[in-house]
Amino acid sequence: MARWWLRQLSRLLETSLLPRVCPGCGGAARVAGTLCPACARMLEPVVAGAACPQCCGGLPCDDCARFRGPIGRVQAAFHYRGTAGGLVRRLKLEGDSGALGLLGRALARRFVRGDAAYRRFVVVPVPLARRRWRERGFNQAAALGTFVARRLSVPLKEHALTRVRETEPQGSALVNSRRRNVERAFAVRRVSKTCVLLVDDVMTSGATLRECARVLRRAGVHEVEAVVAATARR
Ligand SMILES: [Zn+2]
Ligand SMILES: [Zn+2]
Repeated sequence: MARWWLRQLSRLLETSLLPRVCPGCGGAARVAGTLCPACARMLEPVVAGAACPQCCGGLPCDDCARFRGPIGRVQAAFHYRGTAGGLVRRLKLEGDSGALGLLGRALARRFVRGDAAYRRFVVVPVPLARRRWRERGFNQAAALGTFVARRLSVPLKEHALTRVRETEPQGSALVNSRRRNVERAFAVRRVSKTCVLLVDDVMTSGATLRECARVLRRAGVHEVEAVVAATARR
C-alpha cells in the first residue's frame, strides 16, 4: 500500500514538475512524457501476429523459413519510421528521459510481468562503440534494458558483451557489407545464465543482433532472444 502511494506521489511530481515536452518532436504536450496528438498518430506499433517472430519482417518470411539463425525470437515495439525514429534519435543523442520512458515502457509491455518462462534469462544490452560511449557517457540499449529486466524480475548484465572492434554505424553501411561490418566486433566478457535476452534501440538488417547472438551461443549460452525499440525491417 505504501508503495502504491509512493508511486502515485512520484507520478504526480513527474507530471507537475517536468516540462511538458513531447518526446517525439520536442513540441508542447498536454502531459509531460506523453506524445502530442500529431506524434501519437505517427507512431506505428509492430503487431505481433503480423510480423515474422524471428526477424520482425513482414509475413510470410522466406528468409527465416529457409535459414535458422542463432536467435530464437526477435520482438520490436515500433516500426522505425515516423515518431519512433524521432524518439530513438532523441534518446540516443540527447538522452531524453521522456523518450526513454516511452520506449522503455513499450518494450517492457511486450512481456508478461515476472513471466516464469524467462526465469533463466539475463538481459544483455548491445554494447556501444567505445568512441560513442566516451562521447555520450551512456548506452541507450542498457537504459532500455532496465525496463525489460524490471518487468521480468531478472538481472541486467550491462557488461556481459563488449566491443572488441570499432564498426561503422550500421545505418551507413551498404546492406551487403553490414554483416562483414559487425563480424568479430563483439566478445563475451562473462555470462552466468544459460539464456540471454538481447536489447537494442534499433534493428536495421539484424546483423548486429545475430553477431551478438553468435558469440553468446559460442560461449555456451543455450538460448538467445532479442527485443528492440524499433525495427527498420518491412
Ligand atoms: Zn510531438
Ligand atoms: Zn523473418
